[in-house]
Amino acid sequence: MNSRSKRIVMRMGWMVVLALVYYHTSQFSRILTATPQDVTPVWPPDGLATAATLFFGYWIWPGIFFGSFLANLWAFINTNNSITFIFSILQVLGIAGGTTLGTILGTFLLRKSINNTYPLKRLSDVIKLLVFTGMIGPMVNATVGITALTLGGKISISSYPHTWLTWWISNVAGILIFTPALLTWGEYIKNNLRFRRTKTQFLFNKLNIWQIAEIILLLLIVISICKTAFWSRYTFSLEYMIIPCLLWAVFRLGELGSNSLIVIIASIAVLGTVRELGTFARENLNESLILLQYFIGVVVLTTLILNAILSEKQQAIAILKTSQRQLLDNSLQLTHQNIELAVAKRDAVAANHAKSEFLTNMSHELRTPLNGILGITQVFHNSPKLTAQEKEDIAIIQQSGLHLLTLINDILDISKIEAGKMELEYKNFKLLIFLKEIVEICRNSLGNRIFCFNYQFSPELPIIINTDEKRLRQVLLNLLGNAIKFTTNGEVLFVVDIVNQVKKDDSISFTKLKFEIIDTGVGIPPEKLTNIFLPFEQVGETRLKSQGTGLGLAISQRIVNMMGSKIQVSSELGKGSNFSFELDLETTSKYDNKENTNPNYNISQKLPLNILVAEDNLINQKIARKLFKKLGYDIDIAISGYKVLESLETHIYDVVFMDIQMPEMDGMEATREIYQRWGKNRPYIIAMTANAMTGDKEKCIAAGMDDYISKPVKIEFISQAIQIMQEKRQMYS
Ligand code: ADP
Repeated sequence: MNSRSKRIVMRMGWMVVLALVYYHTSQFSRILTATPQDVTPVWPPDGLATAATLFFGYWIWPGIFFGSFLANLWAFINTNNSITFIFSILQVLGIAGGTTLGTILGTFLLRKSINNTYPLKRLSDVIKLLVFTGMIGPMVNATVGITALTLGGKISISSYPHTWLTWWISNVAGILIFTPALLTWGEYIKNNLRFRRTKTQFLFNKLNIWQIAEIILLLLIVISICKTAFWSRYTFSLEYMIIPCLLWAVFRLGELGSNSLIVIIASIAVLGTVRELGTFARENLNESLILLQYFIGVVVLTTLILNAILSEKQQAIAILKTSQRQLLDNSLQLTHQNIELAVAKRDAVAANHAKSEFLTNMSHELRTPLNGILGITQVFHNSPKLTAQEKEDIAIIQQSGLHLLTLINDILDISKIEAGKMELEYKNFKLLIFLKEIVEICRNSLGNRIFCFNYQFSPELPIIINTDEKRLRQVLLNLLGNAIKFTTNGEVLFVVDIVNQVKKDDSISFTKLKFEIIDTGVGIPPEKLTNIFLPFEQVGETRLKSQGTGLGLAISQRIVNMMGSKIQVSSELGKGSNFSFELDLETTSKYDNKENTNPNYNISQKLPLNILVAEDNLINQKIARKLFKKLGYDIDIAISGYKVLESLETHIYDVVFMDIQMPEMDGMEATREIYQRWGKNRPYIIAMTANAMTGDKEKCIAAGMDDYISKPVKIEFISQAIQIMQEKRQMYS
């Protein structure tokens, strides 16, 4: 048998069971509850039919139909002759049809109006159950049934309304008492059967001895109250005592217990009243039945509504608990994530720290040998002993060294920018000299390319401007360098103009200057115009790419941003590009005579000094000797901090040029020691180091050094530092 036929057989089985139970229940009610006038005040079979339809579904309807048919057949069959027989059969069919139709319609309306299959869990569902299945369904049932009996001549037209009302009320009572109880039992069995499958548990296993005792006690109390109230000849009005018992059942035993208790109470009340016993017994039987039905209505409504409210509350609590659990889970998850984040942050900070340290060391390590290379090329630069070929070779070494230095500087700069450590150093300097130097550098970089490099500087340009000279030079050289690099023939034009000017006093103004670099080179495709400002972003020919790092524009843009502006670019592929930016600058239009831009190389005659240079690297020692020689000085060398101290013990020096990283005792420690031993009589100390990260200068000054120059050392730096020292001495002497 396949599953479909199995289902059909099973359904038919349930229909037969329902028909038989319906029939027997009706017989039973007729025998037990019929009044001497043959009225049954409660009609349980319809409660059963409604519960069955709600529980199984609409397909159960033939069971209801046949049950009702059988139940009424014996009551109404008339075998006097064949006509009366057929009529009576038709009447019975009409009654069965009415019962089925009423039940199906009631459940249909209920199902349509609620979302649940089980209608006792919410107050609104309970009310709909009472209205649709408890009142509207029985109206159809009564109407069809009574009409069939009237048409068949069994009831006179005049008694139609009265009989209809009796029929309807007994149906309503049957449904109110039995449907909820049967539904709760059905639900209970369904849930526990499922439960049993997995856990092999018994239906009542869940109850402990105290609960069973409580149920028995409640039953005894209820039965004795009912017996006194409904089954005695004395009319004690004790029925109100049922209410606390029902509350007890609702709160302690739940739906199952309280709905079952209703069946017991109602049954005793009905059985007593129809026997003219108990508190509702009146002279007029109709009066007794109406009192009884009121009582049943109140009891059922109270219980069902209380149960529904309680269950709604429990559902709300369950939802609250679930949300609380979810909240707890979420917060646990968040805590975990926070911990992970904290760990990740710590790691990132450590990694960043390691990166900075690595960069500092790398820059030091790379600059030290570069110092050697560039220093030597400077020394040889104008030597008359060299042949033309040798000079050319040395120029190549110098160029390569300078390129390498640019690369190191670029990488250091971008790291500083990324770490947010780049700072601008504002100072006054002469604009025109600055611009001409830049033009000179660019002209030199053209080599022997046939190329038109021009500049237009406004004749009104301020004499002195205040900004970070080094960084502005870096930006302009980068933009001009690119323009020259990406223009094979044609023109590169460097324009500096005044946009506007606001005077502050006689000499100081605020001037907006526009720097513009125009070329007629390869140009940049429009979609790349924003990308070129990103680090390592290069477009165009591979040959030209290899000449750069792809960092220049990223660094330049960032520097210009720090100066409060932005580099703008417009370009056309094959026609050329235009890079420009505007700066608001504090400017002075008078010369400051104190500033001297041309260092005097041989200064030793004007400033005779005893100089000690601390330097552990052999090549750097040689370079230092040669550079100082160019300034006219013969220097002494110390190869460590200890040696510096030793030399100071035996000689008097005016100035110590102090390397920082040295074996045994580094420059910082040596400086501190010098302070301790010589105090005011100490020599002037100038740091001379390849540690060129932001903050290094401050560290040196904090350790007590007077000045700082970075490697690769240039002859101008040394001479400048010596002149500054001299100025300071004059000031304090
Ligand atoms: P690079 O070191 O490669 O020159 P930049 O950041 O300075 O790095 O420039 C990035 C890219 O922008 C260059 O590789 C080039 O493709 C493009 N670019 C910059 N300036 C110009 C220009 N004047 N003409 C054409 N392309 C340019």
